[in-house]
Amino acid sequence: MANNKPRIYIIDVTNRDGVQTSRICLSKLEKTMINLYLNEMGVFQSEFGFPVTHHESNYLNANLELAEKGALTSIRLSGWIRATKDDVVSAFKLVPRIKYMNLSISTSDQMITHKFKGKLDHKSILLEMSEAVKEAYKLGAECIGVNAEDASRTRMDYLIEFSRAAKEAGAKRIRYCDTLGCDTPFSMYERIKSLVEAVQMPIEIHCHNDLGLVVANSIAGAKAAFDCGQDSYINTCVNGMGERAGNADLVSVILAIKYSSGMQDYHIDEKIDLKCAWKICKYASYAFGVPIPINQPGVGANAFAHESGIHADGALKDRRNYELYDYEELGRGEPEIIETGRKITAGEYSGIKGFRNVYDKLEVPFKDDTEAAEVLELVRYANVHNQKPLVEDELRFIAHYPDIARKIFTMAP
Ligand SMILES: [Zn+2]
Repeated sequence: MANNKPRIYIIDVTNRDGVQTSRICLSKLEKTMINLYLNEMGVFQSEFGFPVTHHESNYLNANLELAEKGALTSIRLSGWIRATKDDVVSAFKLVPRIKYMNLSISTSDQMITHKFKGKLDHKSILLEMSEAVKEAYKLGAECIGVNAEDASRTRMDYLIEFSRAAKEAGAKRIRYCDTLGCDTPFSMYERIKSLVEAVQMPIEIHCHNDLGLVVANSIAGAKAAFDCGQDSYINTCVNGMGERAGNADLVSVILAIKYSSGMQDYHIDEKIDLKCAWKICKYASYAFGVPIPINQPGVGANAFAHESGIHADGALKDRRNYELYDYEELGRGEPEIIETGRKITAGEYSGIKGFRNVYDKLEVPFKDDTEAAEVLELVRYANVHNQKPLVEDELRFIAHYPDIARKIFTMAP
């Protein structure tokens, strides 16, 4: 029975690992749009931010409200904090309705000796983490995952002991974090297999690309969990953003599970729909201000381009000669209209006439002038907030959810 087989789920961490990356950031509105697009794409969970970080509170609470209003239909919104009781208490104080969280603590000898420097040892880490997990459930959490930071450099016997303690405290998943990106697909497979065999619980695979192995490592880890009969949750970022050389690229991971040799029997979450891939990748590129490389899998400008005689001829005769998957599946192939004549935009200093023109073109009606004036005011703030022209979906979002938008733009240090 296919339904009893394990599944591979996606937890996207663009709004957490992606934004904590040096030199790049997203506004709270942009983070909200990423959550909406990930939801549309059928992604299981979005790690949507940092519940103990004060400037995130309004954004996090507003997005939980957005989910309650039905704008986020199936995606889970999860926070990321340190695995300490203090962080758990602060998280629930600032974001009281949070249900899902990842609690993180380092587990390698390297980090224990050279980061904690005597503050925590192997035993106290287990205690600290277990107390944090229990406290989270006491305060209303529904599903807690525990993150073993630097898992790839952690002694296997300790990683197993740590994971057992997490499971005993109530954690539903262990996040195997290849923090430095030093695993290979071979070490990943062996280590995840040993871990899952010993602890019998679902595993999250969190990889980094310092050696260019990030997607391969993620797939190898998920395959190991699957072979041992457990679900896995691959952590991704849109366009492979993330600390240093980045995390596993969302679209590449999905394509690799669907189309790489021998992976067809490894079932990906059936909710996943790549149709939104083109849209989310283009949006993230614009929001981060980082261009999509020409050769990026699936969404790069050259992903379906052919020029040399033999390849062009072959692709024209039958696309399967030189294309592994269809561009239509990724939401590509639709013409995009670019205004080359007069264009009225809505910005920080817009007036009501130009603003009405912009929304008329989007076919978004307003009840009356009062409503239009209210939305105009919000659009001005959104422009101050984003510091770049708003895209159509952002304009639509503000008109549909003005109260949520107002909360997202509000920040009081
Ligand atoms: Zn990371």
